[in-house]
Amino acid sequence: MFSKRFQQLTPYTPGEQPQNRKYIKLNTNENPYPPSPMVEEYLKTADIDLLKLYPDPGSMELRKAIGEYYNLPTSMIFTGNGSDEVLSFCFYAFFDNNNGPLLFPEHSYSFYPVYCGFYNIPYMRISLEKYFSISVDSYIKENDYCGIIFPNPNAPTGTYLEPLEIERLMRNTRKDRVVIVDEAYIDFGGESAVELVNKFDNLLIVQTFSKSRSLAGLRVGFAIGNDKLISALVTVKDSFNSYPLDTLAQNAARIAMEDTDHFEHNKAQIIETREFTINELESLGWDILPSLANFIFIKKDNITGKEIYEKLKEKGLLVRYFGHTGIKDFVRITIGRKEDMLILIQLLKKLWSK
Ligand code: PMP
Repeated sequence: MFSKRFQQLTPYTPGEQPQNRKYIKLNTNENPYPPSPMVEEYLKTADIDLLKLYPDPGSMELRKAIGEYYNLPTSMIFTGNGSDEVLSFCFYAFFDNNNGPLLFPEHSYSFYPVYCGFYNIPYMRISLEKYFSISVDSYIKENDYCGIIFPNPNAPTGTYLEPLEIERLMRNTRKDRVVIVDEAYIDFGGESAVELVNKFDNLLIVQTFSKSRSLAGLRVGFAIGNDKLISALVTVKDSFNSYPLDTLAQNAARIAMEDTDHFEHNKAQIIETREFTINELESLGWDILPSLANFIFIKKDNITGKEIYEKLKEKGLLVRYFGHTGIKDFVRITIGRKEDMLILIQLLKKLWSK
């Protein structure tokens, strides 16, 4: 009954979303604060009659709002059903098995190899530096590849590359291959490389409303790049589903984009809580990678990541454990509300400060 293609799939495993017990959820990098009150107002009063009609297949108003925020024309913006869908369309449009492997970091977003399997794209993981940072030189060294992708800040490590380093990468790598910078976590202290899309036709930036705009449940992501790259993504979209974004999602995301005050305030709270948590945990002897994301990647001598994950879960607090070679000692912890982090700090102190 099943196609050969289907039988070869290895799906992504998302972080747990338990329904049975109430946990403090610090495992999927969701934002603990509500979205813009203007989004709430819109969803409470939206004209239900709108739902009789199909949504705008081009998401014009939303793309215009994103373009205005970044000072770029609508033709340089693509929107999709979460940045996962945008990334999937990118993999389809730009990478294949004719030009060498896709390059991405040794420890990175675990959806990348899944899309490679889905679309039959060979890939090669590029080693990280000693403290898990991405080395631009190790990409520049390569010559035979079908493209490059990495999150900035990287996930699950949280480490960050300056736009100047990304510019150096772009200057010194092939112009006939697309480079994707997945900026899912860029708003928590990093500087976006978005301005570089005006300099480099082969650079695509991908962002999401799921993290810094507290709209993971709405499913809206976007890509920014040269018109040619964007129209390729539109072709993929229109060969798969012309209406990936429903009317409510398009309008709510547009409103969230326009409410810059709420956005700034939301980000600032997360950044402040992250710095507070890092200080507290360092004073308890935890090793924490430098993070400019809404999560931290931590470990402590003589404890395994699995043990940290299991003991915290027992106590009602969920974090993310990957168990991959090279990062087995680590867990990734999302920055929640200050009160959640205080509970985390107390638990870690009680469990492992002897
Ligand atoms: N990129 C990275 C690096 C992520 O961690 C995530 C969240 N899991 C995504 C993209 C996808 O986010 P979304 O589909 O919610 O936009």
